[in-house]
Amino acid sequence: MGWNEKRRKMVDYLVKLGYLSSPEIIKAFERVPRHEFVPKEYRKMAYDDTPLPIGLGQTISAPSMIATMLEELQARRGDKILEIGTGSGYNAALLSEITGEGGMVYTIERIEELAIEAERRLRKLGYENVEVVIGDGTKGYEKCSPYDRIIVTAASPRIPKPLMEQLAEKGRMVIPVGSLEYQILNIVDKFKGEIRVYEKGACVFVPLIGEHGWKEAQLV
Ligand code: SAH
Repeated sequence: MGWNEKRRKMVDYLVKLGYLSSPEIIKAFERVPRHEFVPKEYRKMAYDDTPLPIGLGQTISAPSMIATMLEELQARRGDKILEIGTGSGYNAALLSEITGEGGMVYTIERIEELAIEAERRLRKLGYENVEVVIGDGTKGYEKCSPYDRIIVTAASPRIPKPLMEQLAEKGRMVIPVGSLEYQILNIVDKFKGEIRVYEKGACVFVPLIGEHGWKEAQLV
């Protein structure tokens, strides 16, 4: 089976199980070649519904988890989006497809090696509305704020204050909040300057490490 066929099967599965329902998000999953974002040795499993290692102790989430987060995010065409935790760049590519040419994706990664690799991959695949930033994403990226949508793809002990501040009016953030072992997906809305938080299902992510996340000393 070729990559395209495998990818179509993955999308069919995600739709059938109810993880995917929005046409724009389905289209994004159909377009982004996930096998280009995973290390060679795991390429065969690129379209299985499982998280995979991407090196340096980090992982790319399972497609169903990413689908759930993107459906909750409700990003629209033309949105300015901030992602914390670039990792492989796969989710950034999906966000790029969703927001389209008129929109912009800023994605922050703290591990320089991963950021450089993700940037190279995104360029190669022609994603031009994505800017990869190396740094501590718990502080957000004030320079280009506010953001219509913020998505955090690492586990945080709390919702970092700078991210709440950098969320635009009527904006929405999706972030896993909890312990190092497991988290609850939090949906954070800003309306008339007020923050409202809804809790979704449980999830497991690698830790968000930084000033407003986990401290490295807390990880042992
Ligand atoms: N979204 C990624 C997977 C993310 S894995 C993908 O599609 O492949 C989580 C990533 O968050 C890891 O690469 C980790 O290094 C990064 N990370 C952890 N803390 C961070 C922080 N404070 N700022 C930026 N990136 C962080």
